[in-house]
Amino acid sequence: MSLQNEDFIRYTTLAMASATEQEILRLREQLDRYNYAYYVLDDPLVPDAEYDRLFASLQQYESKHPGLVTIDSPTQRVGDKPLDSFSQVVHRVPMLSLNNAFDEEDMGAFDKRIRERLGIEDVVEYACEPKLDGIAVSLIYRDARLVQGSTRGDGSTGEDITLNVRTIPSVPLRLRGDGFPGTLEVRGEVYMPRAGFERLNRKARARGDKTFANPRNAAAGSLRQLSPRVTAQRPLEFCCYGIGIYEQGELPSSHSAIMANLREWGFRTNREAALAQGIEQCLVYHQQLAVKRDNLPYAIDGVVYKVNKIEQQEGLGFISRAPRWAIAYKFPAQEEITRLLDVEYQVGRTGAVTPVARLEPVFVGGVTVSNASLHNFDEVGRLGLEIGDHVVVRRAGDVIPQVAQVVLERRPADTRPVLTPEVCPVCGSPLERDEGEAILRCSGRLSCSAQQKESIKHFVSRKAMDIEGLGDKLVEQLVDEGLVERVSDIYKLQRAQLLDLERTGEKSADNILAAIEASMETTLPRFLYALGIREVGEATALALYQYYGSLDKIIVADKESLQEVPDIGAVVAGHIILFFQASHNLEVIRQLQDLGVHWPDRPAQAARNTPLEGRTFVLTGTFEAFGRDEARRRLQTLGARVAGSVSAKTTDLVAGPGAGSKLAKAQQLGIGILDESELIALFASLE
Ligand code: NAD
Repeated sequence: MSLQNEDFIRYTTLAMASATEQEILRLREQLDRYNYAYYVLDDPLVPDAEYDRLFASLQQYESKHPGLVTIDSPTQRVGDKPLDSFSQVVHRVPMLSLNNAFDEEDMGAFDKRIRERLGIEDVVEYACEPKLDGIAVSLIYRDARLVQGSTRGDGSTGEDITLNVRTIPSVPLRLRGDGFPGTLEVRGEVYMPRAGFERLNRKARARGDKTFANPRNAAAGSLRQLSPRVTAQRPLEFCCYGIGIYEQGELPSSHSAIMANLREWGFRTNREAALAQGIEQCLVYHQQLAVKRDNLPYAIDGVVYKVNKIEQQEGLGFISRAPRWAIAYKFPAQEEITRLLDVEYQVGRTGAVTPVARLEPVFVGGVTVSNASLHNFDEVGRLGLEIGDHVVVRRAGDVIPQVAQVVLERRPADTRPVLTPEVCPVCGSPLERDEGEAILRCSGRLSCSAQQKESIKHFVSRKAMDIEGLGDKLVEQLVDEGLVERVSDIYKLQRAQLLDLERTGEKSADNILAAIEASMETTLPRFLYALGIREVGEATALALYQYYGSLDKIIVADKESLQEVPDIGAVVAGHIILFFQASHNLEVIRQLQDLGVHWPDRPAQAARNTPLEGRTFVLTGTFEAFGRDEARRRLQTLGARVAGSVSAKTTDLVAGPGAGSKLAKAQQLGIGILDESELIALFASLE
């Protein structure tokens, strides 16, 4: 049938139908489209919360008009058809979905239904488990060996992904221990831990590739790859939550006992799982898990409750798409849909020009969000964002809200493109882009008032010079009035100047002056951090202080020496050198010191035992007794320098197995060479 014919039939069907029928047909058509994008393409068109709202609305219509329910309605079926590109697997025991609860009332109704059906007054024992946000997978073991892995598909037919699941380290290829049935089907979720998801997206972003909207899609997209090699490179994990086929073996009497067996046979089960006696305890579990949610290393979207006794489960059975004995009580959504009202540009302390999305306020991840970071202009292009678009906003945990995707199908006719600025939106200086970096930077440095303001705000902030009372607004005013241009000007401020400013009374002026005065007595790590050197955060500032002890030594340190400081690599060393090479920076530091800013240097090392002082070690190859970092740290504690490459300055080379060119070069230069056991002996004699 041609498309026009289909459209014609749909049109005439709609025209003849009542308003309710029309609404039902519209919702089904919409949900079918969303299902296909979500389950088959792993590329959802709308956030789950939006899908759930439409689904609930269809359920409501259908429950009021049971005569209009059809077997192909999304409310009556699971998932969507499997992809043709995989061979198909028929599930002997159907893989069902779960019914949802969204509040305590829904949970109460669920518990009531269960007790009524079972005819019991007593509390029901429930198994409570986090609802992992990944993709359902079935694994079949015959005589302890993994013989088949498949996706859920439409519940009765899934995709054969045996080769792909075999690449996941937490999928046992062989069962451990004993007592397992001849044929065992284990069901669980393949998911991508948060850290792996962030890493994957960072890499994709750097390559200019498409990113995944959330960990669930990343897991599904990674698992359903035609090449198992691609799957093998993705950080996937498997956690089981149930069984399907269980033959030639005695089935335990409870879900929790089954899970205990699976753990013994080598499967990962969720360590947050617990048993609850009755609905009250279920609700407490939900509250407790909600608190933990953001700190778990993986994404969850709710709690799954299952009647624990298998006999009771069997008595309850299932309806169309879900078992009666289980329910998923969802957490508040971490993704929502809203409108992009505008894109504004922010110029940061280091001149980075960041596009910021101004959004129609939306409640997501527990707060109302009206701004979201867009990272950089490449990201805007990759998202295909236009002003006026409907967008999916994601706020998971305390990560700043992100625009995850554009809802293209809802793009209005009058959207406007997001323009990439050609000059700094604040000072008009040309923009530059570091090689290989996506970030645009204003070249105006401290002549740009935005950079001035941001670097002063940073200088006075709590972890830096900690000047209480000099808030963001006041700093902006001081810069706008021309009273403060560079950080050293803060220490020249007069009481009368502060009093001239709007909203500054006598008392607050005095307090600010006192805080400025007090900040003069500081520490070197704070001062270094306050200077705002690119990529020198608190930890790096502290490491620099510990390594060099005084600012003078840091100013003259060369790149090689800087890279000996723990956690400082070539890039950060380059930023530090560039900073201290600029004469205006040295000038500001001198002024600050002249105005009275001071700190103690690290106490002299006289008391320390530094027998290796003056020797420069290079480490190469691998060691068995300790990692290279530990060897480096211990050598440094004994006063040695540890360099990354062999040069004329090197006095000792420690070579473990696998040493290559560094060893050859050291031999050429006639440098002393130690192996691991000699290094251990050296430590033993000196530490
Ligand atoms: P579901 O994800 O709501 O619940 C069933 C699934 O939960 C199981 O198949 C299993 O994979 C998983 N699960 C995780 N932990 C579990 C545990 N401990 N025990 C048992 N199962 C566990 O159901 P579904 O049918 O896969 O999907 C429906 C949901 O998917 C919707 O509510 C919606 O949020 C989302 N969805 C979104 C879109 C969209 O366009 N955004 C489209 C379709 C579906």
